[in-house]
Amino acid sequence: MSEYRGRFAPSPTGPLHMGSLVAAMASYLDAKAHHGRWLVRIEDLDFDRNVAGADQEIIASLSRCGMQSDEAIVWQSQRQHLYEAALKQLGEMVFPCACSRKEIADSRVRAGLQDSQIYPGNCRHGISDGRLARSFRLRVPEGAAACIQFHDRLLGMQQQDLSTEVGDFVLKRADGFWAYQLTVVIDDAAQGITDIVRGEDLLDSTARQLFLQDLLSLPHPRYLHVPVVVNEVGEKLSKQTGAVAFDRGDNDLLRDALLPAAQFLQLHLEGEIETIEQFWKSAVPAWARRYL
Ligand code: GLU
Repeated sequence: MSEYRGRFAPSPTGPLHMGSLVAAMASYLDAKAHHGRWLVRIEDLDFDRNVAGADQEIIASLSRCGMQSDEAIVWQSQRQHLYEAALKQLGEMVFPCACSRKEIADSRVRAGLQDSQIYPGNCRHGISDGRLARSFRLRVPEGAAACIQFHDRLLGMQQQDLSTEVGDFVLKRADGFWAYQLTVVIDDAAQGITDIVRGEDLLDSTARQLFLQDLLSLPHPRYLHVPVVVNEVGEKLSKQTGAVAFDRGDNDLLRDALLPAAQFLQLHLEGEIETIEQFWKSAVPAWARRYL
């Protein structure tokens, strides 16, 4: 088996909070339980949503909790040549789309697809009347080639039919920014990531990423999606609702951040836990008992 390489890939849209701490902790523990390496990658390509300084704040909070990247941290904003090269490599599989969100929504209604998020195929056979390209999409085939199956280490077999559930998806957005689905695949491969451990909110993206990996002749990592922390009404926590103060003493950090995150991940910690070091010493074998 190749050396285990895992990662935590936060978007710097705000500080680390209880939801993102759980994802960070899960990926970190899985890497450590495999005696592997854990990398941090800052996914800062949505320039409208980036919050100035949030990247450094996240890195400091992780470090405060005892989680340090085993290799130099990378910023996706500095790697855009890689995404450009991948788009070229995909060649004819990529097509320009001239439609606005509203036009796509209207076409969906006309096609009776209003209840789905699927792309109704507007520009897949070319842009009409000299309209200008806004976004670039990947052509998804029909039939068996679009049916993606994969094994999730926690959730078991998963399946998604990209042609009926997703449609031709965006690789480069109308605002000119690179789309997450493409960049995550490029960087996971470039960084030699063997195992992806992240929140279940991204389960729905995995089939698209596996499909892209095949088209670009990249290896498939293993996947494990952990539950996502939600509030009382079942919504994913935001930086406001899940706020954690990371700049306090070890006792507070243990009580208010690390122990609740470990509990959420259903880790049964053994032994005395009064320091952050003791926490990790107990959490790594607890993770291995629960998830390996
Ligand atoms: N940057 C993504 C996010 O913060 C996570 C990417 C991933 O883990 O695949 O939601």
